[in-house]
Amino acid sequence: MGLVVQKYGGSSVADAEGIKRVAKRIVEAKQNGNQVVAVVSAMGDTTDELIDLAEQVSPMPAGRELDMLLTAGERISMALLAMAIKKLGHEAQSFTGSQAGVITDRVHNKARIIDVTPGRIKTSVDEGNIAIVAGFQGVSQDTKDITTLGRGGSDTTAVALAAALDADVCEIYTDVDGVFTADPRVVTKARKIDWISFEDMLELAASGSKVLLHRCVEYARRYNIPIHVRSSFSGLQGTWVSSEPIVQKTQQQGEKQVEQALISGVAHDTSEAKVTVVGVPDKPGEAASIFRTIADAEINIDMVVQNVSAASTGLTDISFTLPKTDGRKAIDALEKNKAGIGFDSLRYDDQIGKISLVGAGMKTNPGVTADFFKALADAGVNIELISTSEIRISVVTRADDVPEAVRAVHSAFGLDSDSDEAVVYGGTGR
Ligand code: ASP
Ligand code: MG
Repeated sequence: MGLVVQKYGGSSVADAEGIKRVAKRIVEAKQNGNQVVAVVSAMGDTTDELIDLAEQVSPMPAGRELDMLLTAGERISMALLAMAIKKLGHEAQSFTGSQAGVITDRVHNKARIIDVTPGRIKTSVDEGNIAIVAGFQGVSQDTKDITTLGRGGSDTTAVALAAALDADVCEIYTDVDGVFTADPRVVTKARKIDWISFEDMLELAASGSKVLLHRCVEYARRYNIPIHVRSSFSGLQGTWVSSEPIVQKTQQQGEKQVEQALISGVAHDTSEAKVTVVGVPDKPGEAASIFRTIADAEINIDMVVQNVSAASTGLTDISFTLPKTDGRKAIDALEKNKAGIGFDSLRYDDQIGKISLVGAGMKTNPGVTADFFKALADAGVNIELISTSEIRISVVTRADDVPEAVRAVHSAFGLDSDSDEAVVYGGTGR
């Protein structure tokens, strides 16, 4: 008998109908002879609504209380789901994150899981129950306060439980049929990926692909837990994310190994802004003091580019990208240290977008970068910044150019599917 951990996102359990549909799927997995642990998110937009409510009461709600409030969302869905399963004639028990043994650090609103002690879950499934666990929440080891793992954190709960329970697979049910070669909301000809390595999936997640959270994939890679991303609205096979390629059964050839693609996909991200520090003296230590200032403000940056300095002035510009939500903080911090750092002025631009091409195959295939730039040129898209890793090329462009650029690159690398197979069943992509 196998043990399966399944996770259902908010759009899959958005209303009573959704909860009943999910209950049926869970029962099917049980009837197929598995022990089943199901992790749920809050119904639909509940988490957003709770945040709105908190902000109406207090513009800067206390982290501890906000966590207490938000965890209520998952309590609602877990209890309703357990009721729906019982109605189908099966035994189910729901558990909060803390009851399920999800132990975190003490950081409110974005806690990290440091241990999982799933004793109660183990007992519950051994007794024949289906265990339903509230995603996205845990309890701090030292303060004993309730914490949340950051937006979209239920995926991480599911993978962490799968690792602790030594599950055979972690199934992530969402409102699309799997991981696509591009966001199906932008590229209707995006193709579903059958298998993708942890490495490529991590790069896609880091580059703006929203289907799986970076932290969740990181966790899965560390404990080598295969993830199966699939739709809760269809019965189709989804995307396998694992260390080794999967073996697929085909009608003609019997079994065949899915091959590593040259390019896994194109990701985009319009959540970042660009800061340019203008007129920086071109001497040692300048970049260090700029980025020390940014780091001290607890801001994570993404790309960095330094221009060639003008010979006549000995001054240069340094640009970097960061989450839009940290823009204000970064500008304030730099302005405050203007005298210490020594620069002329700051420019802030939040109308940028990032497009990334990801694939382990580019390590060994010359010409990928050239083809990428050619596709952008043909689409008339101007490139502002470039950065690369071994298996990724990213560029920053105008935000308005992003959809066109993504489609152009997707076509140029032969990723377009013959049919419009990319179906978006829910609303939010989670
Ligand atoms: N309900 C939480 C959120 O909306 C956690 C999750 O959906 O994974 O962010
Ligand atoms: Mg959610």
